Amino acid sequence: MSSSLAQSAIAKLKEAGLGDVLHVPGEQAYQAKETSLIPFSQRLGPWAIVQPRNTEEVSKAVKALVSTEGLQFAVRSGGHMWVDNSNNIKEGVTIDLTLMTKRTYDPETKLVSLEPGSRWKDVYRELVDQGLLVVGGRESEVGVGGFLIGGGLSFFNSSKGWSCDTIVNFEVVLADGSIVQANKTTNPDLFLALKGGSANFGIVTRFDMESMESKNIWCGTAAYPKSATGQLVDAYVDFTNNLSHTPDDYVFLYAFRGAKEEDYAISLNFSNMNGVANPEPLRGLLEIPNPISKPEDFKVKTLYTKLTDYVVPSANYIISTNWEAITVQVDASVTNKAFAEFDILIEKLRKAIPDNDFIARIVVQPILKSWADISASKGGNVLGIENLPGDCLNILVGVEVPSLELREQVGRPAVKALLNTVKSFAKSINKDADWLYLNYCTDGQEPFATYGAENVKKLKAAAAKYDPNRVFQERVPGGFKISKAQ
Ligand SMILES: Cc1cc2nc3c(=O)[nH]c(=O)nc-3n(C[C@H](O)[C@H](O)[C@H](O)COP(=O)(O)OP(=O)(O)OC[C@H]3O[C@@H](n4cnc5c(N)ncnc54)[C@H](O)[C@@H]3O)c2cc1C
Repeated sequence: MSSSLAQSAIAKLKEAGLGDVLHVPGEQAYQAKETSLIPFSQRLGPWAIVQPRNTEEVSKAVKALVSTEGLQFAVRSGGHMWVDNSNNIKEGVTIDLTLMTKRTYDPETKLVSLEPGSRWKDVYRELVDQGLLVVGGRESEVGVGGFLIGGGLSFFNSSKGWSCDTIVNFEVVLADGSIVQANKTTNPDLFLALKGGSANFGIVTRFDMESMESKNIWCGTAAYPKSATGQLVDAYVDFTNNLSHTPDDYVFLYAFRGAKEEDYAISLNFSNMNGVANPEPLRGLLEIPNPISKPEDFKVKTLYTKLTDYVVPSANYIISTNWEAITVQVDASVTNKAFAEFDILIEKLRKAIPDNDFIARIVVQPILKSWADISASKGGNVLGIENLPGDCLNILVGVEVPSLELREQVGRPAVKALLNTVKSFAKSINKDADWLYLNYCTDGQEPFATYGAENVKKLKAAAAKYDPNRVFQERVPGGFKISKAQ
């Protein structure tokens, strides 16, 4: 790091009084931040990392960086987005929000206020202790910031809508450093845009969210041999078709191929968010015979314990994660096709990757059109699922391989081939859905283009109004940019 641009940005950050939260290569704190990034491919070695402790310091950092002509910067909360350069930058400065983890509850308004840098496990740990919950993430390490501005798939979507629908106010630092609120009455266009519009308008420094009572959850996982796939898919399709009538149930269908060949299993991850054991609507799924491993006694536990008991399996290198997803209509033949193509993907990886050193997964989960009605009742969002042809399934496929070369040459093309084949098949029987979930997208996908022309127009208008100098389009290059959507 020696460019004069870097020196000038660092000098401005110091002048702004941020010297004590500024870290440069070689320092232990810098190294710790870099190595906490998931995946490894995001560890880009920025010129400096600045870690504001509060909104005012975010404002100072933004002013300092924007006034350094020609400088680019990145914004990071939990650091879980796998899209290249989304939350870090090679030639620039990263604003790291992970010191901003304040979590408060106002008993008068019943709102929970979250700063962006927390991870969901920490949010739930504290809230559950107070008998509270919010509609947040399903994985313990995912960050609050990126998750919420991307929409938020949670265990409560069928009863409460998207996570972003439960936000009543955003505090935002705009590109000129000003601190604004966005809610139904103040800056309502920014409020709407932030519910799904991601990193295009400013840096969100606080989310004020509706809270709800914390209830214990009945949950557990059952694994089956590959031969049960057809039965599982049929029962899962029935379950999804009924889900809007039984919104407290939640089930993922997924297959996982770990480091060893015998790790392959197709599994169901069950939850009832009211703590009801073996709920009737899940009977079809629960009665599938001959599971390999079915905990006889699924547990009743808090959401915090559920998240910390089950961490998404990953390779310890995660050097080259590529997860990518499509959406299709609820249909057994399309879902079976996806699992058949997953076998082909595994064969491709086995042939190309020495020592079978890879992880592959496919996860099927519901995206119900009826969630749009809940969103509408709360003021709407920009995700556009009201335009879906009907209830849908999201098919997420991910691979982790030990090098970036293998990701580019083998992993990514294999995932793309799988998803393209499934999409073409779905299209051939009129079961496709032209919709992509931003938080599950990868490099090259354009989620905003699938959110509908009206939403794209609103997002572009909000970006032009709140960021007229296009800082978040051009000088914060990471993530999905609304200016690229047609
Ligand atoms: C293991 C795993 C499990 C997951 N599970 C789920 C799930 O259950 N449901 C779901 O919906 N998604 C899930 N995701 C996807 C996840 O929601 C996205 O990767 C999300 O972007 C992560 O948020 P983060 O704060 O960790 O992101 P980061 O990587 O820190 O940020 C993501 C993007 O948002 C921007 N950003 C971050 N914070 C702010 C802010 N405060 N203001 C403005 N811009 C900001 C960043 O610049 C970046 O472009 C999962 C991902 C992983 C890896």
